[in-house]
Amino acid sequence: MGFRPPVDSCIGCGSEISPDGIHSYSRLEGGFLCGDCRARPGEGQRERVVELDAGAVRYLERTEPLGPRAALRVRLEARSLAALKAIVYDVAERIVDGPLKTIETGRGIL
Ligand SMILES: [Zn+2]
Repeated sequence: MGFRPPVDSCIGCGSEISPDGIHSYSRLEGGFLCGDCRARPGEGQRERVVELDAGAVRYLERTEPLGPRAALRVRLEARSLAALKAIVYDVAERIVDGPLKTIETGRGIL
C-alpha cells in the first residue's frame, strides 16, 4: 500500500531507534517503540504491543531497500512472520480507517 511506519524513530517519545534497538510495535499508537517506552508502557499499551524477535528485525533491515518481489525471497521463521503479519494487519486497518473482514479472519489464525 506504500505506507510503512518509520522503523528508526519511536512513536512514543520520538527518539531515534537503531535497527538492532527495535523491540516492539504499538497497535495503540501505530508505530515502533524504543526499548525505554516498551519498558514503561502507557495505559492500555501493554496488551496492544507486538513483540519483534531478532528475525523480524533482520527482515525489516534487509527488505527496506528491496522491492516487493525481492523482499518475498527473504526467508522468515514462523514466529517472525506472525509478528510482522500482525503489524501489517494493523497498518492496513489504519489506512482504511477500520477493521476489514479479511483481516479479522487472518487475525484468528495468528
Ligand atoms: Zn520511546
